[in-house]
Amino acid sequence: MINIKLSCCSEKPVTSLYSGEKLCKNHFTEYFENKVFKTLRQFDLLDKGENIGVAISGGKDSLTVLSILNRLSKENPKIKISAIAIDEGIAGYRDRTLMTAKEFCGKNKINLHIFSYEEEFGLTLDEMLKILDVKPCTICGIFRRYLLNKKSRELGLTKLATGHNLDDECQSIQMNQMRNDLRASARLGPKGGLIKNNKFVQRIKPLYLCTEKEVTTYAFINGLLDNFNECPNAVHSFRAQVRDTLNDLENKFPGTKYSIENSFLQTLPYLKEKFRDGKIKICKNCSEPSSNDICNACVYVEKLKNKIDMNN
Ligand code: SF4
Ligand SMILES: [Zn+2]
Ligand SMILES: [Zn+2]
Repeated sequence: MINIKLSCCSEKPVTSLYSGEKLCKNHFTEYFENKVFKTLRQFDLLDKGENIGVAISGGKDSLTVLSILNRLSKENPKIKISAIAIDEGIAGYRDRTLMTAKEFCGKNKINLHIFSYEEEFGLTLDEMLKILDVKPCTICGIFRRYLLNKKSRELGLTKLATGHNLDDECQSIQMNQMRNDLRASARLGPKGGLIKNNKFVQRIKPLYLCTEKEVTTYAFINGLLDNFNECPNAVHSFRAQVRDTLNDLENKFPGTKYSIENSFLQTLPYLKEKFRDGKIKICKNCSEPSSNDICNACVYVEKLKNKIDMNN
């Protein structure tokens, strides 16, 4: 007979785990933090001395990572922490989440570096989308990845931690399969990337084993929950469709997401091996790493310039 302990203690439960166990606020917090520390150890995400940047949006996932790593850094002075945020220029959304990020960093005395599309590329995302007929998340993702890597390297960061959780990873795995893009999947995993190169700052995902529900519960209990702001462009995205389908499957067949991630982790070493030989080029325009002669960010900056010139 399976012996499931139904309640952790006499305190009121705040959530129940996949196993059926119900946990109170303190025991859930302990469970969650232990899971994050286990992830850091299991996947060897941190070295003894690190200068870690946490990519934050002001949302619950990234603030959860920042809060836990900040505590770790206080206990271990060899681990330095700072935060890095990208202002894409999405009116009514990013301005609000950045306010939350600034408040949190101010209160916890964490250095926050903010870089914007407007300063770096001359236009906000809102303006870019009026000029180019392109899917918002495509162009936004290219510019964000570009800036995060470039600025992290310039800041001398040794790792960049992101708030990606188990749900995010499952969505990416499924999206890449539907696009027949296994090379993109080879870059996934708790330690992102494929090729070690000093032009790349390694990405790590401390919430890799935590579900969206768990992160939301932790953030709520610990006062890190944002006011459910969602980017206005997200509703139309491929990711949102995949997310809804996966949530539906998880409701009907509990454990689906764990199975997707666990089976992916078993195939990941083969994928990394298969795609490891790709050579890194240096963009002829901006000298950032690229898989082509000109990097995707420069390609889009050029497209924007041409379109503006045509319209003038
Ligand atoms: S949802 Fe899309 S457009 Fe909005 S911030 Fe994310 S990647 Fe950018
Ligand atoms: Zn308890
Ligand atoms: Zn470039």
